[in-house]
Amino acid sequence: MAEEVLNKEYFINVVNDLIDLAEEKKDYYTDLDSAIGDGDHGFNLSLGFREVERNLPEWKDENINTFYKKVGQALLDKVGGSSGPLYGSFFMKFGLPVKTKGADEGVTAEEFVDMMERGVAIIEKRGKAKVGEKTMVDTLRPAQDKLKEAVESGKPIKEAMKEALDTGKEGLESTRNIVAKKGRAMRLGERAIGHLDPGAASSADILEVFYDNMPD
Ligand code: ADP
Ligand code: MG
Repeated sequence: MAEEVLNKEYFINVVNDLIDLAEEKKDYYTDLDSAIGDGDHGFNLSLGFREVERNLPEWKDENINTFYKKVGQALLDKVGGSSGPLYGSFFMKFGLPVKTKGADEGVTAEEFVDMMERGVAIIEKRGKAKVGEKTMVDTLRPAQDKLKEAVESGKPIKEAMKEALDTGKEGLESTRNIVAKKGRAMRLGERAIGHLDPGAASSADILEVFYDNMPD
Protein backbone atom coordinates (compact mmCIF):
# COMPACT_ATOMS: atom_id res chain seq x y z
CA MET A 1 0.00 0.00 0.00
CA ALA A 2 1.20 3.51 -0.77
CA GLU A 3 2.60 5.46 2.10
CA GLU A 4 0.71 8.21 3.95
CA VAL A 5 2.72 11.41 3.39
CA LEU A 6 0.31 14.05 4.74
CA ASN A 7 -1.40 13.40 8.04
CA LYS A 8 -4.72 14.69 9.30
CA GLU A 9 -3.01 17.43 11.32
CA TYR A 10 -1.49 18.83 8.13
CA PHE A 11 -4.95 19.45 6.73
CA ILE A 12 -6.07 21.28 9.86
CA ASN A 13 -2.87 23.34 9.97
CA VAL A 14 -3.44 24.41 6.36
CA VAL A 15 -6.86 25.79 7.20
CA ASN A 16 -5.50 27.59 10.26
CA ASP A 17 -2.86 29.22 8.11
CA LEU A 18 -5.44 30.15 5.46
CA ILE A 19 -7.36 31.98 8.17
CA ASP A 20 -4.20 33.96 8.99
CA LEU A 21 -3.41 34.52 5.31
CA ALA A 22 -6.83 36.07 4.67
CA GLU A 23 -6.17 38.65 7.40
CA GLU A 24 -2.52 39.31 6.59
CA LYS A 25 -3.07 39.84 2.87
CA LYS A 26 -6.48 41.49 3.09
CA ASP A 27 -5.28 44.96 2.07
CA TYR A 28 -3.07 43.58 -0.69
CA TYR A 29 -5.98 41.69 -2.29
CA THR A 30 -8.17 44.75 -1.88
CA ASP A 31 -5.58 46.89 -3.67
CA LEU A 32 -5.27 44.42 -6.55
CA ASP A 33 -9.05 44.20 -6.88
CA SER A 34 -9.43 47.98 -6.66
CA ALA A 35 -7.23 48.34 -9.72
CA ILE A 36 -9.22 46.06 -12.02
CA GLY A 37 -12.36 44.99 -10.13
CA ASP A 38 -14.54 46.34 -7.33
CA GLY A 39 -12.05 46.21 -4.48
CA ASP A 40 -13.72 43.55 -2.36
CA HIS A 41 -11.49 40.51 -2.84
CA GLY A 42 -9.65 41.08 0.45
CA PHE A 43 -12.88 41.66 2.30
CA ASN A 44 -14.51 38.59 0.76
CA LEU A 45 -11.73 36.23 1.79
CA SER A 46 -11.46 37.73 5.24
CA LEU A 47 -15.21 37.44 5.83
CA GLY A 48 -15.25 33.81 4.68
CA PHE A 49 -12.26 32.68 6.68
CA ARG A 50 -13.41 34.46 9.83
CA GLU A 51 -16.53 32.32 9.62
CA VAL A 52 -14.31 29.26 9.21
CA GLU A 53 -12.28 30.31 12.24
CA ARG A 54 -15.40 30.59 14.40
CA ASN A 55 -16.40 27.03 13.63
CA LEU A 56 -13.07 25.28 13.36
CA PRO A 57 -12.99 23.79 16.87
CA GLU A 58 -16.26 22.00 16.14
CA TRP A 59 -15.09 20.56 12.83
CA LYS A 60 -11.60 19.35 13.69
CA ASP A 61 -12.57 15.82 14.64
CA GLU A 62 -14.30 15.08 11.34
CA ASN A 63 -12.47 13.19 8.61
CA ILE A 64 -10.70 15.22 5.93
CA ASN A 65 -13.61 15.18 3.51
CA THR A 66 -16.26 16.33 5.98
CA PHE A 67 -13.87 18.89 7.46
CA TYR A 68 -13.16 20.51 4.10
CA LYS A 69 -16.80 20.29 3.07
CA LYS A 70 -17.67 22.40 6.08
CA VAL A 71 -14.93 24.90 5.23
CA GLY A 72 -16.25 25.13 1.68
CA GLN A 73 -19.85 25.46 2.82
CA ALA A 74 -18.91 28.35 5.11
CA LEU A 75 -17.28 30.20 2.21
CA LEU A 76 -20.29 29.50 -0.01
CA ASP A 77 -22.71 30.70 2.66
CA LYS A 78 -20.83 33.79 3.75
CA VAL A 79 -19.10 35.20 0.72
CA GLY A 80 -20.78 36.91 -2.16
CA GLY A 81 -18.93 37.74 -5.33
CA SER A 82 -17.14 35.27 -7.54
CA SER A 83 -14.41 34.11 -5.23
CA GLY A 84 -16.72 32.82 -2.46
CA PRO A 85 -18.55 30.29 -4.65
CA LEU A 86 -15.34 29.38 -6.51
CA TYR A 87 -13.13 28.80 -3.47
CA GLY A 88 -16.14 27.39 -1.62
CA SER A 89 -16.60 24.77 -4.34
CA PHE A 90 -12.87 24.01 -4.31
CA PHE A 91 -12.99 23.07 -0.63
CA MET A 92 -16.35 21.30 -0.94
CA LYS A 93 -14.84 18.92 -3.51
CA PHE A 94 -11.25 18.77 -2.24
CA GLY A 95 -11.78 15.87 0.18
CA LEU A 96 -14.06 13.77 -2.03
CA PRO A 97 -11.32 11.44 -3.32
CA VAL A 98 -10.63 10.45 0.31
CA LYS A 99 -14.16 10.45 1.63
CA THR A 100 -13.95 6.95 3.08
CA LYS A 101 -11.01 7.78 5.38
CA GLY A 102 -11.34 7.66 9.12
CA ALA A 103 -11.10 10.78 11.29
CA ASP A 104 -7.40 10.27 12.07
CA GLU A 105 -6.24 9.18 8.65
CA GLY A 106 -4.03 11.16 6.28
CA VAL A 107 -3.39 10.74 2.57
CA THR A 108 -0.84 9.46 0.08
CA ALA A 109 0.87 11.67 -2.50
CA GLU A 110 -1.34 10.24 -5.24
CA GLU A 111 -4.47 10.97 -3.21
CA PHE A 112 -3.32 14.54 -2.64
CA VAL A 113 -2.93 14.99 -6.42
CA ASP A 114 -6.49 13.68 -6.89
CA MET A 115 -7.80 16.05 -4.23
CA MET A 116 -6.19 19.09 -5.83
CA GLU A 117 -7.49 17.98 -9.21
CA ARG A 118 -11.07 17.83 -7.93
CA GLY A 119 -10.75 21.29 -6.44
CA VAL A 120 -9.18 22.94 -9.47
CA ALA A 121 -11.55 21.19 -11.88
CA ILE A 122 -14.65 22.46 -10.10
CA ILE A 123 -13.34 26.04 -10.23
CA GLU A 124 -12.77 25.67 -13.98
CA LYS A 125 -16.23 24.18 -14.40
CA ARG A 126 -18.14 26.70 -12.32
CA GLY A 127 -16.24 29.70 -13.66
CA LYS A 128 -16.13 28.32 -17.20
CA ALA A 129 -12.60 29.69 -17.26
CA LYS A 130 -9.54 28.46 -19.09
CA VAL A 131 -5.88 29.40 -18.77
CA GLY A 132 -5.17 32.80 -20.32
CA GLU A 133 -8.38 34.54 -19.25
CA LYS A 134 -6.84 36.44 -16.32
CA THR A 135 -8.40 34.51 -13.45
CA MET A 136 -7.33 32.27 -10.59
CA VAL A 137 -7.30 29.40 -13.12
CA ASP A 138 -4.10 30.90 -14.57
CA THR A 139 -2.39 30.05 -11.29
CA LEU A 140 -4.20 26.86 -10.36
CA ARG A 141 -4.30 24.82 -13.57
CA PRO A 142 -0.61 24.97 -14.48
CA ALA A 143 0.29 24.36 -10.83
CA GLN A 144 -1.96 21.31 -10.65
CA ASP A 145 -0.60 19.87 -13.90
CA LYS A 146 2.94 20.31 -12.59
CA LEU A 147 2.04 18.69 -9.27
CA LYS A 148 0.61 15.66 -11.03
CA GLU A 149 3.59 15.31 -13.34
CA ALA A 150 6.10 15.64 -10.50
CA VAL A 151 4.34 13.12 -8.24
CA GLU A 152 3.93 10.68 -11.12
CA SER A 153 7.63 10.90 -11.83
CA GLY A 154 8.28 9.84 -8.24
CA LYS A 155 9.30 13.12 -6.60
CA PRO A 156 8.62 13.46 -2.86
CA ILE A 157 5.46 15.43 -2.13
CA LYS A 158 7.18 18.58 -0.84
CA GLU A 159 9.49 18.78 -3.81
CA ALA A 160 6.57 18.20 -6.17
CA MET A 161 4.52 20.88 -4.44
CA LYS A 162 7.44 23.32 -4.68
CA GLU A 163 7.54 22.82 -8.44
CA ALA A 164 3.77 23.28 -8.55
CA LEU A 165 3.98 26.46 -6.49
CA ASP A 166 6.72 27.93 -8.69
CA THR A 167 4.67 27.11 -11.78
CA GLY A 168 1.59 28.68 -10.18
CA LYS A 169 3.58 31.84 -9.45
CA GLU A 170 4.61 32.03 -13.09
CA GLY A 171 0.94 31.69 -13.96
CA LEU A 172 0.10 34.53 -11.59
CA GLU A 173 2.76 36.70 -13.19
CA SER A 174 1.36 35.87 -16.63
CA THR A 175 -1.95 37.52 -15.67
CA ARG A 176 -0.22 40.90 -15.56
CA ASN A 177 0.06 41.40 -19.27
CA ILE A 178 -3.22 40.03 -20.58
CA VAL A 179 -6.78 41.27 -20.85
CA ALA A 180 -9.53 39.54 -18.88
CA LYS A 181 -12.01 37.23 -20.58
CA LYS A 182 -13.85 36.39 -17.36
CA GLY A 183 -14.90 38.30 -14.26
CA ARG A 184 -15.31 42.00 -13.62
CA ALA A 185 -11.96 42.98 -15.14
CA MET A 186 -13.38 41.99 -18.52
CA ARG A 187 -15.12 45.34 -18.77
CA LEU A 188 -11.79 47.16 -18.57
CA GLY A 189 -10.47 45.66 -21.77
CA GLU A 190 -6.92 46.84 -22.41
CA ARG A 191 -6.93 48.90 -19.23
CA ALA A 192 -6.54 45.69 -17.23
CA ILE A 193 -3.09 45.26 -18.73
CA GLY A 194 -0.29 45.92 -16.25
CA HIS A 195 -2.27 44.58 -13.28
CA LEU A 196 -2.13 41.17 -11.63
CA ASP A 197 -5.41 39.32 -11.25
CA PRO A 198 -6.46 39.37 -7.57
CA GLY A 199 -7.82 35.82 -7.56
CA ALA A 200 -4.68 34.51 -9.26
CA ALA A 201 -2.70 36.22 -6.50
CA SER A 202 -4.74 34.72 -3.64
CA SER A 203 -4.56 31.32 -5.32
CA ALA A 204 -0.76 31.45 -5.42
CA ASP A 205 -0.74 32.31 -1.71
CA ILE A 206 -3.14 29.45 -0.96
CA LEU A 207 -0.82 27.04 -2.79
CA GLU A 208 2.06 28.42 -0.75
CA VAL A 209 0.21 27.58 2.47
CA PHE A 210 -0.27 24.00 1.24
CA TYR A 211 3.46 23.88 0.47
CA ASP A 212 4.75 25.52 3.65
CA ASN A 213 2.91 23.09 5.88
CA MET A 214 4.31 19.99 4.19
CA PRO A 215 6.82 18.04 6.30
CA ASP A 216 10.40 18.03 4.99
P1 ADP B 1 -15.99 39.66 -7.54
O1 ADP B 1 -15.27 39.57 -8.85
O2 ADP B 1 -17.37 39.13 -7.66
O3 ADP B 1 -15.91 41.01 -6.94
P2 ADP B 1 -13.79 38.77 -5.90
O4 ADP B 1 -13.31 40.15 -6.03
O5 ADP B 1 -13.80 38.21 -4.53
O6 ADP B 1 -15.26 38.63 -6.54
O7 ADP B 1 -12.92 37.79 -6.79
C1 ADP B 1 -12.41 38.20 -8.02
C2 ADP B 1 -11.58 37.07 -8.60
O8 ADP B 1 -12.41 35.96 -8.92
C3 ADP B 1 -10.92 37.44 -9.91
O9 ADP B 1 -9.70 38.10 -9.68
C4 ADP B 1 -10.75 36.10 -10.61
O10 ADP B 1 -9.51 35.49 -10.27
C5 ADP B 1 -11.86 35.27 -10.03
N1 ADP B 1 -12.90 35.06 -11.00
C6 ADP B 1 -13.89 35.89 -11.37
N2 ADP B 1 -14.67 35.33 -12.31
C7 ADP B 1 -14.15 34.10 -12.56
C8 ADP B 1 -14.48 33.01 -13.42
N3 ADP B 1 -15.55 33.05 -14.22
N4 ADP B 1 -13.69 31.91 -13.39
C9 ADP B 1 -12.63 31.83 -12.57
N5 ADP B 1 -12.28 32.82 -11.74
C10 ADP B 1 -13.01 33.93 -11.73
MG1 MG C 1 -14.16 41.91 -6.39
